[in-house]
Amino acid sequence: MTAGAKLLQWNNYNPLQGDHKYMARSPWVDKESCISCGLCVSTCPDVFRFGSDTKSQVFNPSGAPEAKIQEAIDGCPVQCILWKE
Ligand code: SF4
Repeated sequence: MTAGAKLLQWNNYNPLQGDHKYMARSPWVDKESCISCGLCVSTCPDVFRFGSDTKSQVFNPSGAPEAKIQEAIDGCPVQCILWKE
């Protein structure tokens, strides 16, 4: 086993299975701009949820694969979801 493979095994990361626990970036919601439409919450319910202020918030940045989070980002009508490196 190569050193890289050992590291991936040690991190419990399996790119072939689309494991998303170790993403290099995280989604972030600009609450000032959020209009509470709910699209991101319905697209990625394990990443986004409404806070007590009725605005969307990220409660689990690794709750979905990046491609699914990107789908939520692309669908946001006011483009207030961003990636943070
Ligand atoms: S999709 Fe955008 S506007 Fe709609 S709830 Fe999510 S962050 Fe707010």
